[in-house]
Amino acid sequence: MVLPTVAIVGRPNVGKSTLFNRIIKERLAIVEDRPGVTRDRNYAPAEWLGHKFHIIDTGGITWEDGKIEEEIRAQAEIAIEEADVIVFLTNVVTGVTDLDEKIAQLLYKADKPVLLAVNKADNPEQRSNIYDFYSLGMGEPIPVSSSHGTGIGDLLDTIVDNFPADSDTKDDDTISFSVIGRPNVGKSSIVNKLLGEERVIVANMEGTTRDAIDTPFVAADGTKYRLIDTAGIRRRGKVYEKTEKYSVMRALSAIERSDVVLLVLDASTGIREQDKHVAGYAHDAGRGIIIVVNKWDLPEKNSNSAKDFEKVIRSEFQYLDYAPIIFVSAETGQRLNQIPELVKKVYANQNQRIQSSVLNEMLLEASKLVPTPMIKGKRLRVYYMTQVKSNPPTFVVFVNEPELMHFSYQRFLINQLRDNFDFMGTPIKIVARKRK
Ligand code: GDP
Ligand code: GDP
Repeated sequence: MVLPTVAIVGRPNVGKSTLFNRIIKERLAIVEDRPGVTRDRNYAPAEWLGHKFHIIDTGGITWEDGKIEEEIRAQAEIAIEEADVIVFLTNVVTGVTDLDEKIAQLLYKADKPVLLAVNKADNPEQRSNIYDFYSLGMGEPIPVSSSHGTGIGDLLDTIVDNFPADSDTKDDDTISFSVIGRPNVGKSSIVNKLLGEERVIVANMEGTTRDAIDTPFVAADGTKYRLIDTAGIRRRGKVYEKTEKYSVMRALSAIERSDVVLLVLDASTGIREQDKHVAGYAHDAGRGIIIVVNKWDLPEKNSNSAKDFEKVIRSEFQYLDYAPIIFVSAETGQRLNQIPELVKKVYANQNQRIQSSVLNEMLLEASKLVPTPMIKGKRLRVYYMTQVKSNPPTFVVFVNEPELMHFSYQRFLINQLRDNFDFMGTPIKIVARKRK
């Protein structure tokens, strides 16, 4: 689950977003297929020859009243901190500029591979001009044309060759989770309390940079976890960390790398618009979700308070009906020790496999409960169901006509699955296929 990250850096107008869009094209098309998707366009999953990775267009992260020099500095800082491979993009039409040289200066400090790509090399004549770029001291320039699509394959080959040797690997028995939420809900307090628990053994953090960001630990029962850091939880103070887009990007990056996501809400302020954005990202990514209501020490309470708050959550986050809710206080420590156990349970649920014979028994019972829908005189026939994937659990239903599989019937089947099996905390996907 720990995927490498690639960052594109460069001055304005060299073609960063064009290159970014070209690299993520296919994935984005799939992602956009689903309704309600709220992806940040500066950060996206990508894939090349079976290698999955994440890509960041650092230029797309805008700064209010940012001077160009500051912007460039922040871009380089983000790339140096976040990325495993940095693509430094330049423009053959303008040649090497002062700003290119400034960026090169900043990137010399990076302790990671920097690939120098020269964009807008649309034709042989321009490709012959790329040799000027050796002067940047970044090694061999790679000519690309982001708008024509030439050279992109060679660039991607080089990117993939430079991925760290340990990427794409993960202990299979380690559960990755992250703590996300808008600023001040108490994310860092929760993380610090969780890791500070005396019964938790935090592995020592030498080694790769990635280990310095993610904290592996072993709980009292021997379960191995990896806590994925999100924006500013453990390292504060950088100017760019305060920008909304940057924190969204970090949250997305953490979600992508997690099995389970803790969505933290603040009991003292109630639910805000920004909470919904964050929740939407986690849901779209198909990860396990636990809703953590923090600062439960603050509100005045009676015996119905938790129930009342839960009602509000359920109506504000209807699509998260599968997520368990836990009321905690990072201040007093109330119920925090239940979190690892709950994460473990959700992880088990999202990884379980249900036998086809059991599923089909369920289908038979379901068909007795509710007749299949009829559209324009044609009735949906459901023949067979099988689980094709776990994490998240994904089921294929073979039917006479996939178009007859309405959202409401899909919903009904998902509810049947939830009633019959324990899928608490995990989204479920159903795909209708035509029986051949
Ligand atoms: P950014 O500011 O670095 O993100 O640059 P953009 O991706 O917005 O591109 C700036 C301009 O350069 C746009 O008008 C693009 O259409 C154009 N552009 C991008 N890539 C190429 C290329 O490979 N060849 C040519 N000729 N134009 C390009
Ligand atoms: P983050 O921005 O989400 O990481 O939030 P912090 O962990 O920095 O917490 C923001 C503020 O809320 C700090 O002043 C914390 O001391 C306070 N805080 C965090 N958790 C609790 C809690 O459970 N109860 C109370 N009363 N305050 C809390």
